Amino acid sequence: MDSDLGPEGVETVCEVCEVELDRITEVAQLTDQDIELLRQPRRRINANIPVRMDDGSIDVFPSFRIQYNGARGPTKGGIRFHPGVNESEVDELAFLMTLKCAVVDIPFGGAKGGVQVDPSELSAGELERLSRAYVREYHDTIGPQSDIPAPDVNTDAQIMAWMRDEYERLEGEHAPGAITGKPPALDGSEGRDTATALGGAEILDAFVDHADIDGQIDVAIQGFGNVGSHLARFLHDRGYNVVAVSNAAGGIRDPTGLAVTELIDGYESEHDLFEFDATEISNEELLTADVDVLIPAAIEDQITQSNMAEIQAAAVLEMANGPTTPAADEYLAEQGIPVIPDILANAGGVTVSYFEWVQNTTNEYWTERRVQEKLRKQMRTAFEAVAELKTDGQPDRTWREAAYTRAVDAVLTAESYRSNIP
Ligand code: GLU
Repeated sequence: MDSDLGPEGVETVCEVCEVELDRITEVAQLTDQDIELLRQPRRRINANIPVRMDDGSIDVFPSFRIQYNGARGPTKGGIRFHPGVNESEVDELAFLMTLKCAVVDIPFGGAKGGVQVDPSELSAGELERLSRAYVREYHDTIGPQSDIPAPDVNTDAQIMAWMRDEYERLEGEHAPGAITGKPPALDGSEGRDTATALGGAEILDAFVDHADIDGQIDVAIQGFGNVGSHLARFLHDRGYNVVAVSNAAGGIRDPTGLAVTELIDGYESEHDLFEFDATEISNEELLTADVDVLIPAAIEDQITQSNMAEIQAAAVLEMANGPTTPAADEYLAEQGIPVIPDILANAGGVTVSYFEWVQNTTNEYWTERRVQEKLRKQMRTAFEAVAELKTDGQPDRTWREAAYTRAVDAVLTAESYRSNIP
């Protein structure tokens, strides 16, 4: 049988994952067998979910859950609600989750879920029914020791609370560790909502120390949601100069530095960046701004072949998943612009999800301070391990190559102990 074809002649390989693996085949010395193991998910499940709408009609929402690799532990990853979600996107994100958990050395594999929906068009009741219906569809395969969902784009602590509640109703017992990213009042972890941003700030600090950068550091952040806004605050508090931020509608810029605290306070009530006194810019202008660090913190495919030659930043910190396309990544590497990859930069969220799962499992709850201390340590340790691998090759690896190499090695080592792979 052609190995690209599954039992029913269906294409089973994740093409984007193959492209990603291709980039590190040489630097990580991957064999054909390693690639065979990693180029496709272990399990893909999908369901068209019918949901009763408020007007009495029924809408059907296509959905996915893809469990990519569970060699290192229960598979782990968020569920995104977005009209554009499709199977190959979820494949890639599940692959990235596998590497992300491995690079920061938390004992989980990788998974991802998605529902094709624009949640802003649903009432709260419709959103709750959809969230509960998702859990009913995938209930058999999720659980604290099998596959653990969490928030992602357009899903939040309230949705996780509904999902956890639905899971427990079906199980007939408490099982808080089946879902992470819950509200702290319902067995969630303190510090989970700011974890991705804090992890990113810690990685940027580590990078600045490593590269021996002195003086004022200007940063531009694309995306002002959970990650972007908290990151702006953490970086501002740490002395970085946040000169530009944006959301889907566009951005604002002040080369002398934005007053981040006032900006965040105002944004919380108005949800409008343009209320703030600063020069209006487009997202494209933000991405090509002359700054020290460009931080894409929104969605994938933002730095692409069409704008890569205009990127002026001295470094890129990927807080979104997959914001740089492979061609643009290669181009930036040739230009000597370091890109700190998503699997390392944004791993703070899943790291605190792991802490949440540990707290749920032991039934002992930690202070925010303890969570943040442990998070900072975990991120620094991962950064140092990646930095060491970076200069360990001939020639030097890029940050992405080094992070991928560490992650893939960890996954393959676990796989090899599970099977008779030499
Ligand atoms: N959705 C987040 C990510 O992409 C967090 C996943 C989790 O906590 O499991 O890393």
